Amino acid sequence: MEIHLKKDLNLVLTSRPFHVAERAGLQCSYPNCDRRTLGTGAKNDETSNSGTAAHIYSAAVGGPRGQGILSEEELKHSDNAIWLCRDHSTLIDNNRGDRFPPQLLLSYKQMHQRWGQVQD
Ligand SMILES: [Zn+2]
Repeated sequence: MEIHLKKDLNLVLTSRPFHVAERAGLQCSYPNCDRRTLGTGAKNDETSNSGTAAHIYSAAVGGPRGQGILSEEELKHSDNAIWLCRDHSTLIDNNRGDRFPPQLLLSYKQMHQRWGQVQD
């Protein structure tokens, strides 16, 4: 699950990966990174994205961290995705994702979302 935002912001704003990004405040969820992932593009009608909705459990058989006991629908759900900058999305998948088990990524996601809750 990966999106590359180009010209059509309306498409982005209605996509499921964008929901993951929006819930993360458009910032990387890796601890102490908080890199902003969406910004102004080169032209007036463009945006620039450096973020990725990375799978927590793998969508592919044999992918990083395995698929656990999740159904195909659960694997595709935004609950199974964490918003990361490109550097950290690459890092978590290195070596089959062994250093970043699903429980750790879920804790990163929860901490980031708790940190990012908007106060009334
Ligand atoms: Zn990051």
